Amino acid sequence: AQGRIAFASQSGALLSAILDWAVFQGIGFSKVVSLGNKADVSEIDLIKSWRTDPTSKVVAAYLEGVTNGQEFMRAAKEITKVKPLLVFKSGTTAAGSRAVSSHTGTLAGSEASYVAAFRQCGVIRPSSVSELFDLAIAFAQQPLPAGRRIAIVTNAGGPGIIATDAAEKNQLRLAAFTPETIANMRAKLPATASVYNPVDIIGDARTDRYAVAIDAVLKDPGVDGLIVLLTPQAVTEPKETAQLIASYSGKTRKPILTSFIGGAALQDALKVLREAGVPNYDFPEGAIAAFKAMVDHKEWREKPIEQPARFIVNSDLALESIADTRKLGRTTLGLEAMDLLEAYGFTVPQSGIARTPDDAARLATDIGFPVVMKIVSPEILHKSDVGGVRVGVRNAEEVREAFVSIVASSQRYVPQAHIEGVFIQEMVKPGREVILGASYDGQFGHLLMFGLGGIYVEVMRDVVFRVAPLTMSDAREMVNEIRSAALLRGVRGQPPADIDAIVHALLRLSQLVTDFPEITELDVNPLVVYPNGEGAVAVDSRIALSAPRS
Ligand code: ADP
Ligand code: MG
Repeated sequence: AQGRIAFASQSGALLSAILDWAVFQGIGFSKVVSLGNKADVSEIDLIKSWRTDPTSKVVAAYLEGVTNGQEFMRAAKEITKVKPLLVFKSGTTAAGSRAVSSHTGTLAGSEASYVAAFRQCGVIRPSSVSELFDLAIAFAQQPLPAGRRIAIVTNAGGPGIIATDAAEKNQLRLAAFTPETIANMRAKLPATASVYNPVDIIGDARTDRYAVAIDAVLKDPGVDGLIVLLTPQAVTEPKETAQLIASYSGKTRKPILTSFIGGAALQDALKVLREAGVPNYDFPEGAIAAFKAMVDHKEWREKPIEQPARFIVNSDLALESIADTRKLGRTTLGLEAMDLLEAYGFTVPQSGIARTPDDAARLATDIGFPVVMKIVSPEILHKSDVGGVRVGVRNAEEVREAFVSIVASSQRYVPQAHIEGVFIQEMVKPGREVILGASYDGQFGHLLMFGLGGIYVEVMRDVVFRVAPLTMSDAREMVNEIRSAALLRGVRGQPPADIDAIVHALLRLSQLVTDFPEITELDVNPLVVYPNGEGAVAVDSRIALSAPRS
């Protein structure tokens, strides 16, 4: 059947199976293309050409990967401003072969990069092939809702509750009806009916009650879309009710989705809905998920296009620092990485490197007590693990003692370590510790990471990624998206953390890796964040560079 879904599949076999299935389901396509292994058209070519194809209202794809991440993102950003792009992506591509030496590198996989990239270009990502089509049909057949306020009309309590719960989970809102809408339904429905959302017209409802409720809620200016639920009971009239719904669909600018729940008893009704272009879902959650995707897409389209943030920085100093590292034949920057952060506008503690205990005592006295001391060795990644960090060192004598013991402990743990000295740092006041990072991903470019810092970062995996360069909204979303974001907003009387300082740090990091693509991995762990308005300080960092070009 002729339809309005353009579909591309990286699996030819899946494509033919789906076409067969779709005909059976009454799903129509405007275009279907198989992206074989040696195909001369790519998914990117298709996205570009389908953007302007008037017969395709929605683009759906089954992909195992994208051919060029950056180009895919550009094409996807363009198409999603005019029509929905749904991609079901299977498989996890092999990205684990690269040796990683940072927290960020360990946590960033190819899956994280797809999640980030798709989200940053408005691509809708269903979690299954069946959901891909459930959503595609809604987009193909119904108008986009103006907002997230839905009305639910049902002839049974249970499904109404299921739909309500699903709506809540999906950040949809149950519309609050106007007094007129309520009075109107109250006058025409039996006293046992519930005229509040979800509208429950009770198990003995025939089509006339559906008519009263549907008509009333669709007229309500506070309703952006309608979900009609039906369970076949003794006097239910599935086919007539379907005809009623069909008569409204297309006459209203609000989307209507249905969930007629059942099998054999509903065949005639489902045929009516299908022919009228009213998407029906086996269960209410399906209808809610489709509605949610439509609202998200609508909001995405209205979101103004934002340019990546740029700051004035000292990139010459960063360039020099990287060149110095290269000259030494190295590809990692340990605490020297702090200089790059400073050049890019991070607040960093006063510091210096000491070669001898006396040197250390002098330096610490200059900086002011208490100080923090850290082992400097290219072979040592996690300094605390080897007894290579001492905080709260209070006077010159303690500094000399700590110097000796830090060096001894580090040598004991890592006998082959080449020890260059001890880093003396101003001790900063305590705050909330977060981790920021970047990792080069072969597919999309640099991925930026944000999470709560500390030793649990790899266990909790409460981190979020975005592809660089970041916009201000990307960075803000990152901070809000981690599961433990509430800890930053402040719990139990704690003041909120300086979220703006984290956002700015993320943006500066994004600029750093964009300016220096040879940075393959970068951790700032921790960035110590103070209460709102008081800023944040980077106290530890590590950078890995790509191997020199031979
Ligand atoms: P590593 O991660 O290699 O073990 P860090 O430099 O991150 O070493 O230090 C470990 C911990 O010590 C940090 O997470 C932080 O809690 C604390 N710390 C490090 N430097 C400072 C500093 N300058 N002021 C206050 N606390 C610090
Ligand atoms: Mg650290």
